[in-house]
Amino acid sequence: MDISRREFLRIAGASTIVGVLGGWAAVELLAPGKLEEKYLLKPGALTAKRWAMVVDTKKMDEVTANRCIEACHRIHNVPDIADPKHEIKWIWLEPFENAFPDQQQEYVAEYLKEESFILLCNQCDNPPCVRVCPTKATWKREDGIVMMDQHRCIGCRFCMAACPYGSRSFNWMDSRPFIKERNPEYPTREKGVVEKCDFCAERLDEGLMPACVEVSNGALIFGDLADFKSEVRKILRTRYSIRRKPHLGTNPQVYYIV
Ligand code: SF4
Ligand code: SF4
Repeated sequence: MDISRREFLRIAGASTIVGVLGGWAAVELLAPGKLEEKYLLKPGALTAKRWAMVVDTKKMDEVTANRCIEACHRIHNVPDIADPKHEIKWIWLEPFENAFPDQQQEYVAEYLKEESFILLCNQCDNPPCVRVCPTKATWKREDGIVMMDQHRCIGCRFCMAACPYGSRSFNWMDSRPFIKERNPEYPTREKGVVEKCDFCAERLDEGLMPACVEVSNGALIFGDLADFKSEVRKILRTRYSIRRKPHLGTNPQVYYIV
Protein backbone atom coordinates (compact mmCIF):
# COMPACT_ATOMS: atom_id res chain seq x y z
CA MET A 1 0.00 0.00 0.00
CA ASP A 2 1.45 3.42 -0.96
CA ILE A 3 1.44 6.03 1.76
CA SER A 4 2.77 9.57 1.59
CA ARG A 5 5.85 10.65 3.57
CA ARG A 6 3.69 12.90 5.69
CA GLU A 7 1.31 10.01 6.49
CA PHE A 8 4.33 7.77 7.32
CA LEU A 9 5.74 10.32 9.81
CA ARG A 10 2.33 10.75 11.46
CA ILE A 11 1.90 7.01 12.04
CA ALA A 12 5.56 6.53 13.11
CA GLY A 13 5.20 9.35 15.65
CA ALA A 14 2.10 7.82 17.19
CA SER A 15 3.77 4.37 17.32
CA THR A 16 6.82 5.80 19.12
CA ILE A 17 4.66 7.33 21.83
CA VAL A 18 2.87 4.00 22.35
CA GLY A 19 6.23 2.17 22.46
CA VAL A 20 7.77 4.57 25.01
CA LEU A 21 4.81 4.02 27.30
CA GLY A 22 5.34 0.24 27.25
CA GLY A 23 2.10 -0.61 25.48
CA TRP A 24 -0.09 1.96 27.26
CA ALA A 25 -1.56 3.95 24.41
CA ALA A 26 -1.29 7.67 25.13
CA VAL A 27 -2.65 8.29 21.64
CA GLU A 28 -5.47 6.19 20.35
CA LEU A 29 -5.33 5.73 16.60
CA LEU A 30 -8.92 5.16 15.53
CA ALA A 31 -9.55 3.94 12.02
CA PRO A 32 -11.89 6.20 10.05
CA GLY A 33 -15.51 5.32 10.81
CA LYS A 34 -14.63 3.13 13.84
CA LEU A 35 -16.75 5.13 16.28
CA GLU A 36 -19.64 5.30 13.83
CA GLU A 37 -19.56 1.53 13.56
CA LYS A 38 -19.80 1.18 17.34
CA TYR A 39 -22.54 3.67 18.01
CA LEU A 40 -24.68 3.66 14.90
CA LEU A 41 -27.82 1.58 15.12
CA LYS A 42 -28.06 -1.26 12.65
CA PRO A 43 -30.63 -0.80 9.91
CA GLY A 44 -33.87 -2.41 11.06
CA ALA A 45 -33.03 -2.22 14.79
CA LEU A 46 -36.07 -1.81 17.04
CA THR A 47 -35.99 1.48 18.94
CA ALA A 48 -38.18 3.21 21.52
CA LYS A 49 -38.20 6.19 23.80
CA ARG A 50 -39.18 3.95 26.71
CA TRP A 51 -39.36 0.18 26.41
CA ALA A 52 -41.88 -1.56 28.65
CA MET A 53 -43.45 -4.99 29.01
CA VAL A 54 -46.99 -6.00 29.88
CA VAL A 55 -47.83 -9.47 31.21
CA ASP A 56 -51.38 -10.57 30.45
CA THR A 57 -51.95 -12.76 33.50
CA LYS A 58 -55.09 -14.32 31.96
CA LYS A 59 -53.09 -15.68 29.02
CA MET A 60 -49.86 -16.48 30.88
CA ASP A 61 -50.46 -20.05 32.06
CA GLU A 62 -47.69 -22.22 33.45
CA VAL A 63 -46.97 -23.98 30.13
CA THR A 64 -46.55 -20.64 28.35
CA ALA A 65 -44.43 -19.27 31.19
CA ASN A 66 -42.08 -22.26 31.07
CA ARG A 67 -41.76 -21.86 27.30
CA CYS A 68 -40.74 -18.21 27.84
CA ILE A 69 -38.22 -19.17 30.52
CA GLU A 70 -36.73 -21.92 28.38
CA ALA A 71 -36.38 -19.63 25.33
CA CYS A 72 -34.72 -16.85 27.34
CA HIS A 73 -32.32 -19.11 29.22
CA ARG A 74 -31.34 -21.09 26.10
CA ILE A 75 -30.58 -18.00 24.02
CA HIS A 76 -28.61 -16.30 26.79
CA ASN A 77 -26.58 -19.31 27.94
CA VAL A 78 -28.14 -19.22 31.41
CA PRO A 79 -26.88 -22.30 33.27
CA ASP A 80 -29.25 -24.82 34.80
CA ILE A 81 -27.94 -25.19 38.37
CA ALA A 82 -30.20 -27.21 40.66
CA ASP A 83 -28.72 -25.94 43.94
CA PRO A 84 -30.91 -22.91 44.83
CA LYS A 85 -27.93 -21.19 46.52
CA HIS A 86 -26.13 -21.07 43.15
CA GLU A 87 -29.16 -20.68 40.90
CA ILE A 88 -28.92 -18.24 37.97
CA LYS A 89 -32.19 -16.85 36.61
CA TRP A 90 -33.21 -14.11 34.22
CA ILE A 91 -36.92 -14.88 34.18
CA TRP A 92 -38.73 -17.15 36.61
CA LEU A 93 -42.01 -18.06 38.33
CA GLU A 94 -43.17 -17.14 41.83
CA PRO A 95 -46.50 -17.58 43.65
CA PHE A 96 -48.67 -14.47 44.09
CA GLU A 97 -47.65 -13.86 47.71
CA ASN A 98 -43.95 -13.69 46.78
CA ALA A 99 -44.46 -11.72 43.58
CA PHE A 100 -46.80 -9.13 45.07
CA PRO A 101 -46.33 -9.14 48.85
CA ASP A 102 -47.88 -5.66 49.06
CA GLN A 103 -51.16 -6.82 47.44
CA GLN A 104 -52.16 -9.26 50.17
CA GLN A 105 -55.51 -7.71 51.03
CA GLU A 106 -58.58 -9.77 51.77
CA TYR A 107 -60.47 -9.00 48.55
CA VAL A 108 -57.86 -10.02 46.00
CA ALA A 109 -59.47 -12.25 43.34
CA GLU A 110 -59.17 -15.94 44.21
CA TYR A 111 -57.67 -16.86 40.83
CA LEU A 112 -54.77 -14.46 41.45
CA LYS A 113 -53.91 -16.03 44.79
CA GLU A 114 -53.63 -19.45 43.18
CA GLU A 115 -51.51 -18.38 40.20
CA SER A 116 -47.77 -18.30 39.67
CA PHE A 117 -46.42 -15.12 38.10
CA ILE A 118 -43.62 -14.71 35.63
CA LEU A 119 -40.97 -12.31 36.95
CA LEU A 120 -37.93 -10.61 35.44
CA CYS A 121 -35.91 -7.45 35.87
CA ASN A 122 -38.39 -4.56 35.90
CA GLN A 123 -36.02 -2.23 34.02
CA CYS A 124 -36.90 0.34 36.68
CA ASP A 125 -37.06 4.02 35.78
CA ASN A 126 -35.32 4.82 39.02
CA PRO A 127 -33.07 1.77 39.47
CA PRO A 128 -31.34 1.48 42.85
CA CYS A 129 -28.99 -1.16 41.40
CA VAL A 130 -27.49 1.46 39.07
CA ARG A 131 -27.06 4.02 41.85
CA VAL A 132 -24.96 1.71 44.04
CA CYS A 133 -22.68 0.15 41.41
CA PRO A 134 -19.15 1.46 42.03
CA THR A 135 -17.80 0.60 38.57
CA LYS A 136 -20.74 1.55 36.30
CA ALA A 137 -20.94 -2.10 35.27
CA THR A 138 -24.68 -1.61 35.36
CA TRP A 139 -26.29 1.46 33.83
CA LYS A 140 -29.56 2.70 32.37
CA ARG A 141 -29.85 3.41 28.65
CA GLU A 142 -31.78 6.31 27.13
CA ASP A 143 -34.57 3.90 26.19
CA GLY A 144 -34.89 2.71 29.81
CA ILE A 145 -33.14 -0.67 29.59
CA VAL A 146 -30.89 -1.37 32.58
CA MET A 147 -27.77 -2.98 31.12
CA MET A 148 -24.96 -5.12 32.55
CA ASP A 149 -21.33 -5.22 31.42
CA GLN A 150 -19.68 -8.27 32.98
CA HIS A 151 -16.22 -7.02 31.98
CA ARG A 152 -16.59 -4.10 34.38
CA CYS A 153 -18.31 -6.08 37.15
CA ILE A 154 -16.09 -6.65 40.20
CA GLY A 155 -18.59 -8.95 41.92
CA CYS A 156 -19.18 -6.74 44.96
CA ARG A 157 -22.94 -7.58 44.79
CA PHE A 158 -24.03 -4.11 45.95
CA CYS A 159 -26.55 -4.17 43.09
CA MET A 160 -28.05 -7.41 44.37
CA ALA A 161 -28.50 -5.96 47.83
CA ALA A 162 -30.09 -2.84 46.33
CA CYS A 163 -32.54 -4.60 43.98
CA PRO A 164 -35.79 -5.16 45.89
CA TYR A 165 -37.04 -7.71 43.33
CA GLY A 166 -34.36 -10.42 43.42
CA SER A 167 -33.80 -9.87 39.71
CA ARG A 168 -30.03 -10.35 39.77
CA SER A 169 -28.00 -13.54 40.07
CA PHE A 170 -24.37 -13.99 41.07
CA ASN A 171 -22.06 -16.53 39.47
CA TRP A 172 -20.56 -18.33 42.46
CA MET A 173 -18.69 -20.65 40.11
CA ASP A 174 -17.90 -21.06 36.44
CA SER A 175 -21.38 -21.65 35.07
CA ARG A 176 -20.29 -23.00 31.69
CA PRO A 177 -20.39 -26.71 32.61
CA PHE A 178 -24.07 -26.21 33.53
CA ILE A 179 -25.18 -24.79 30.18
CA LYS A 180 -27.34 -27.39 28.47
CA GLU A 181 -26.80 -26.33 24.88
CA ARG A 182 -24.35 -23.49 24.34
CA ASN A 183 -25.43 -20.68 22.02
CA PRO A 184 -22.23 -19.55 20.25
CA GLU A 185 -23.87 -16.21 19.36
CA TYR A 186 -24.09 -15.08 23.01
CA PRO A 187 -21.27 -14.72 25.57
CA THR A 188 -20.99 -16.95 28.63
CA ARG A 189 -20.16 -15.60 32.09
CA GLU A 190 -17.28 -16.35 34.43
CA LYS A 191 -17.21 -16.90 38.18
CA GLY A 192 -17.60 -13.70 40.22
CA VAL A 193 -19.94 -11.60 38.06
CA VAL A 194 -23.61 -10.61 38.24
CA GLU A 195 -26.16 -11.13 35.47
CA LYS A 196 -29.82 -10.40 34.73
CA CYS A 197 -32.43 -9.83 31.99
CA ASP A 198 -31.91 -6.81 29.72
CA PHE A 199 -35.10 -7.04 27.60
CA CYS A 200 -32.99 -8.85 24.95
CA ALA A 201 -31.11 -5.67 24.02
CA GLU A 202 -29.00 -7.68 21.56
CA ARG A 203 -32.11 -8.94 19.74
CA LEU A 204 -33.68 -5.46 19.56
CA ASP A 205 -30.50 -4.36 17.78
CA GLU A 206 -31.18 -7.05 15.19
CA GLY A 207 -34.80 -5.98 14.74
CA LEU A 208 -36.14 -8.89 16.79
CA MET A 209 -38.56 -8.91 19.72
CA PRO A 210 -37.35 -10.28 23.09
CA ALA A 211 -37.15 -14.09 23.01
CA CYS A 212 -39.81 -14.53 25.72
CA VAL A 213 -42.26 -12.25 23.88
CA GLU A 214 -41.75 -14.19 20.67
CA VAL A 215 -42.84 -17.52 22.20
CA SER A 216 -45.53 -16.18 24.54
CA ASN A 217 -48.54 -16.42 22.18
CA GLY A 218 -49.57 -12.87 23.07
CA ALA A 219 -49.24 -13.30 26.85
CA LEU A 220 -46.33 -10.84 26.85
CA ILE A 221 -46.72 -7.50 25.11
CA PHE A 222 -43.66 -5.38 24.49
CA GLY A 223 -43.36 -1.87 23.11
CA ASP A 224 -42.76 1.82 23.49
CA LEU A 225 -44.55 3.35 26.45
CA ALA A 226 -43.94 6.81 25.00
CA ASP A 227 -45.87 5.94 21.85
CA PHE A 228 -49.62 6.53 22.30
CA LYS A 229 -50.40 4.03 19.53
CA SER A 230 -48.19 1.20 20.78
CA GLU A 231 -49.70 -2.11 21.94
CA VAL A 232 -48.45 -1.58 25.49
CA ARG A 233 -50.16 1.80 25.69
CA LYS A 234 -53.37 0.46 24.19
CA ILE A 235 -53.63 -2.41 26.65
CA LEU A 236 -52.73 -0.29 29.68
CA ARG A 237 -55.43 2.20 28.62
CA THR A 238 -58.15 -0.43 28.64
CA ARG A 239 -57.20 -2.89 31.40
CA TYR A 240 -56.34 -2.66 35.11
CA SER A 241 -52.70 -3.39 35.88
CA ILE A 242 -50.46 -3.85 38.89
CA ARG A 243 -46.69 -3.56 39.33
CA ARG A 244 -44.29 -5.08 41.81
CA LYS A 245 -43.67 -2.99 44.95
CA PRO A 246 -44.43 0.38 43.32
CA HIS A 247 -44.38 2.09 46.76
CA LEU A 248 -40.56 1.80 46.76
CA GLY A 249 -40.30 4.53 44.14
CA THR A 250 -38.31 2.45 41.64
CA ASN A 251 -41.02 2.90 38.97
CA PRO A 252 -40.97 -0.63 37.50
CA GLN A 253 -41.64 -0.92 33.77
CA VAL A 254 -43.11 -4.41 33.78
CA TYR A 255 -46.92 -4.24 34.17
CA TYR A 256 -49.25 -7.12 35.05
CA ILE A 257 -52.78 -6.80 33.73
CA VAL A 258 -55.31 -8.52 35.99
S1 SF4 B 1 -35.62 -4.86 38.94
FE1 SF4 B 1 -33.80 -4.78 40.21
S2 SF4 B 1 -32.11 -5.19 38.78
FE2 SF4 B 1 -33.89 -4.60 37.54
S3 SF4 B 1 -33.66 -2.37 37.25
FE3 SF4 B 1 -35.01 -2.69 39.02
S4 SF4 B 1 -33.63 -2.60 40.79
FE4 SF4 B 1 -32.33 -2.94 38.96
S1 SF4 C 1 -21.65 -6.77 41.48
FE1 SF4 C 1 -20.96 -5.86 39.53
S2 SF4 C 1 -22.79 -4.85 38.68
FE2 SF4 C 1 -23.22 -5.29 40.83
S3 SF4 C 1 -22.68 -3.39 41.96
FE3 SF4 C 1 -20.84 -4.71 41.99
S4 SF4 C 1 -19.67 -4.15 40.16
FE4 SF4 C 1 -21.73 -3.27 39.89
